[in-house]
Amino acid sequence: MENVLRLAVQKSGRLSEDSLKLIKECGVSFSQGVGKLKCEAFNFPLEFLFLRDDDIPQYVSSGIADIGFVGENVLLETGEKTNIIQKLGFSKCRLSLAVSNDFVYENINSLQNKSIATSYPNILRKYLTEKNIQADIHVISGSVEIAPSIGLAEAICDLVSSGSTLLSNGLKEVEVVLKSEAVLIAHPKMNDLKQKTLSELLFRIESVQKAKDNKYILMNVPNYSIDKISKILPVMKSPTIMPLAIEGWSSLHSVVKEDDFWGIINELKLAGAEGILVIPIEKMIF
Ligand code: ATP
Ligand code: ZN
Repeated sequence: MENVLRLAVQKSGRLSEDSLKLIKECGVSFSQGVGKLKCEAFNFPLEFLFLRDDDIPQYVSSGIADIGFVGENVLLETGEKTNIIQKLGFSKCRLSLAVSNDFVYENINSLQNKSIATSYPNILRKYLTEKNIQADIHVISGSVEIAPSIGLAEAICDLVSSGSTLLSNGLKEVEVVLKSEAVLIAHPKMNDLKQKTLSELLFRIESVQKAKDNKYILMNVPNYSIDKISKILPVMKSPTIMPLAIEGWSSLHSVVKEDDFWGIINELKLAGAEGILVIPIEKMIF
């Protein structure tokens, strides 16, 4: 069918769970089936291809898949030409340079003429060239963190999220080469019908993302504080006020940004708000 979008997602790994969760939150249902490499959604014109993450950019740039969910780190390393349509906010990590704890590191020049092990030679080469550093890059496909301890390289360039893997291998992070997260990529040319499906999917993704950034908040307030509290809340339009059965009190409902919430909670209490409830929002549409 002309309007069915083909989405490439990682078969199994750090991107898979969140990728499929996002699709489900968009109201798209499907049954993956054990070991299946392809499946179709039941209620949306979407077909899934389950692939290794390294292959996703190429599938999308060649047009075999129309869109894909992949880490920016992998997209940049492959150098494939696709459009980044949307940042997805999950699988956040950084590609960093790290050295042994006993390596005396002052600045990037400390890596001059050293050997560096990595699975990201293209990104690393570009970074070092920009910094005028000559280094010997050893390409290895996994377990990069053990390279310094076995004498394979003096430094590594690898993905880090919490830093605990570096720590347990006696390494320290010295430079961030790239910050990465999962992104939605698309083939540059798509027919109008597929483009329409993509717009619908994007609209749903944005609604899910907005909902995650915001919370529904409700509280009991004395009527004389309604104005004051309404001003504290950075609301969408204006809060909803409903009378309580007790004389002189109301229930006030609004939406707040998750990030703002902790900053205003004390102000709300000082202004007389009681019984404050904060509830997750499933979808948010403007
Ligand atoms: P595949 O078998 O599909 O090739 P992989 O082993 O190369 O999988 P994963 O380890 O599953 O890849 O990681 C996939 C992506 O998840 C990474 O490219 C990166 O964008 C992201 N990621 C987030 N945090 C981390 C982390 N701490 N370490 C590695 N990757 C991370
Ligand atoms: Zn991979």
